[in-house]
Amino acid sequence: MKAMVLYEITDLHKNRFPLRSVELQAPEPKDNELVVRVLTCGVCHTDIDVIEGRTPPTRLPVIPGHQVVGVVEKRGRNATRFKKGEQIGIAWINSSCGTCFFCQNGEENLCDRFRATGRDADGGYAEYIAVSEDFTYRIPVVFSAAEAAPLLCAGAIGYRSLRLTKMHDGDALGLVGFGASGHIVLKLVRHLYPTSRVFVF
Ligand SMILES: [Zn+2]
Ligand SMILES: [Zn+2]
Repeated sequence: MKAMVLYEITDLHKNRFPLRSVELQAPEPKDNELVVRVLTCGVCHTDIDVIEGRTPPTRLPVIPGHQVVGVVEKRGRNATRFKKGEQIGIAWINSSCGTCFFCQNGEENLCDRFRATGRDADGGYAEYIAVSEDFTYRIPVVFSAAEAAPLLCAGAIGYRSLRLTKMHDGDALGLVGFGASGHIVLKLVRHLYPTSRVFVF
């Protein structure tokens, strides 16, 4: 398969082409894994932090990319959540221990054994990706792959933040910064809280 691979941490001011296009063997699924044929992988600012080492990979080489939408190509023998051909998404959380306090409370990102897609495990800048089915998301076909991909990081972050505000329709909302998450939150707010005013700082 074709893949874009990061071989070393690099400074993007000195190296404008940090990823190399290479031919690799496509992954095979372990028992609880799916192999997904990638349709789209969104580009996230965190990819730059991986490449420049601010959130450094725990292994190199690694394939970046953590807003992945694709279709199930192969299933491990215990992977039964999805059928072959179903459209699914893969996001930043690649795996966690599943048993600690944080994992038990839906905060797997704080787990000591948290691993990130495209940093600690190969990500979506490739034709195929292997992933535990526990960390995959059904993507309704009302979305195209390209429409759904940004929801898997930027959208998830914005939605989580919006929920934490506990706001109601009519409350004013302030957004600090206006990147990918901010754009998606603005659309969410227009839909969920149509009479709220939004201020962007
Ligand atoms: Zn991201
Ligand atoms: Zn854990």
